[in-house]
Amino acid sequence: MNLDQLLSAFPHLVGPLRILIVDDQPVNIRVLHGVFRGKFEVLMATNGEQAIAVCRSQRPDIVLLDVVMPDISGHEVCRQLKADPDTKDIPVIFVTSQAEDSEEALGFEIGAVDFISKPVNPVTVLARVRTHLALKLQNDLLRSMAMIDGLTAVANRRNFDNALTNSWRRCLRDGAPLSLVLLDLDCFKQFNDRYGHQAGDSCLVAVAKTLKLALRRPDDLVARYGGEEFACILPNTDAKGAANRGASMREQVKALEIEHADSQVGPFVSISVGLVTLVPHASTSAEMLLEAADQQLYRAKDTGRDRVCAIEL
Ligand code: GH3
Ligand code: MG
Ligand code: MG
Repeated sequence: MNLDQLLSAFPHLVGPLRILIVDDQPVNIRVLHGVFRGKFEVLMATNGEQAIAVCRSQRPDIVLLDVVMPDISGHEVCRQLKADPDTKDIPVIFVTSQAEDSEEALGFEIGAVDFISKPVNPVTVLARVRTHLALKLQNDLLRSMAMIDGLTAVANRRNFDNALTNSWRRCLRDGAPLSLVLLDLDCFKQFNDRYGHQAGDSCLVAVAKTLKLALRRPDDLVARYGGEEFACILPNTDAKGAANRGASMREQVKALEIEHADSQVGPFVSISVGLVTLVPHASTSAEMLLEAADQQLYRAKDTGRDRVCAIEL
């Protein structure tokens, strides 16, 4: 897809596109600014240090970078951007004069996506920038589709599996407690049967949003584990803290007051929650944690639904 097609297909995912122009000569900035004005949001920097600061704080979608500058060279700026996980995915195009053409190989080596020669041709520079913006957006979309559940926009199962392995390793190393929550909507088949699949989908979206709000630590993760089942990873959280979060999730889902007249525990949509806490040890595994959480969830269902069942291993 080209840039226009991407922008119209995913308007909710793509904000206004931002381009950063870096050059120590104001006249060069002015020329490029003239090319992009009205098409993209234009950010400017007149030295390398500023360029790096703007990239960190504003996250432009693409950078046009002068090579020869008095303080830090464009090459060094590019190196630093590529070394920082927060800025490494921003495409960099070098803007070079004839004399620097021989340095193109080096530029590609340090991570540039393209070169544009000075004096710039407005048609060429705009076309190249549009091409690289389209590639960058496709890249962003692919990455998010690989990690995010399409319906609810929380982490998907693949993301969850990776995160659980990582949290397990970190807590094992730190000797810290790790809690895992598995939860499932009660009598959700009946909900779909009575209110329709569309309403079922909307309900899942609302529940996912509520679960996210109930977990406020930056390291907590909410994932869609299966159809109407969610899983939450709570690193560095002991049994007491996890019980507290589990109770809060259950209460907040109920407080949505989504009508469910056919639920055996109605009149509103509710969840059953299984919870497990342990301090990881070499003799235990993330799979055991999952299995134990599943057993607690089963117990919550078996003893009447709309409740939290917990165990500490
Ligand atoms: P329980 O209280 O024992 O969990 O009963 P339940 O009806 O929720 O469980 P069951 O596993 O029998 O049925 C789950 C239902 O969830 C089946 C399906 O209709 C619904 N469901 C699963 N995924 C989706 C989805 O993506 N969208 C919608 N609308 N419904 C879904
Ligand atoms: Mg269910
Ligand atoms: Mg289920």
